Amino acid sequence: MKLARSEVLVVASHNPGKLREIAELLDPFNLTIKSAAELGLPEPEETGATFAENAALKTHAAADASGFAALSDDSGLAVAALDGAPGIYSARWAGPGKDFASAMSQVEKALKEKGASDFSAKFVCALALARPGGEAEIFQGEVTGHLVFPPRGARGFGYDPIFVADGMHETFGEIDPAVKHAMSHRARAFAKLKQHLEIGG
Ligand code: IMP
Repeated sequence: MKLARSEVLVVASHNPGKLREIAELLDPFNLTIKSAAELGLPEPEETGATFAENAALKTHAAADASGFAALSDDSGLAVAALDGAPGIYSARWAGPGKDFASAMSQVEKALKEKGASDFSAKFVCALALARPGGEAEIFQGEVTGHLVFPPRGARGFGYDPIFVADGMHETFGEIDPAVKHAMSHRARAFAKLKQHLEIGG
C-alpha cells in the first residue's frame, strides 16, 4: 500500500500497551498517527476464528468509520500443551478488568490440570492494513519460547512476565523494551509490513 506522509493512519487498538509498541514501531515512517480511541471509534466485537480475521475485522471497522487508512493488530499467546489456548481469547482470559495476573495464573492452572511438562508457547501477531472499502493486507509474525512461573518483571504488558523467548533467560517482562521490539511477534509482523508499505511525499 502507498501512503502519503501527510495522510492519517488510524491505529485501531484500544490497548494502551499495544498502542505504545505500535507507535514506536511506526516511528521511523514519520506518519500522522491517530488512535481509534482518540477518534472516538467504537471497539468492534472480535468474532473471527483466527488472529488474521480479527485483525481484518478491526481494521475495516476503523477505516470505514473514520474514512482514513487503518492498521490493527490482533495478537495473543498460544500455548502448545493447551492446544493453542488462550490464542485469540488472550485478552478475554483477563476478563473485563483486564486482570493479567489472573490470566497468567489461569494458564498455570490449566497446565497443572493437564499435567503438562511441555511449557512451549508462542506469541502470534497479525497486522491488517486497509483503506476504507478496500481489501485488508495481512502480515503475520511469531516468536517462539517457553513459559515460566511465577511471573517475572514489570516491563511490557499482558502475558510478558511469563514468556521467555528461545535463546533468552529473562522474560519479556524483564528485558529492555528495545530488545523485545527487535525480536517480538509484533516486530516480525512489522518487518513484513515495512516491505509492502511505500511512503510518498
Ligand atoms: P487483542 O489482540 O486486542 O484481542 O488482545 C491480545 C492480547 O494478547 C493482549 O491483551 C495481551 O494479553 C496478549 N498479547 C498480545 N501481544 C502481547 C505481547 O507482546 N506481550 C504480552 N501479551 C501480549
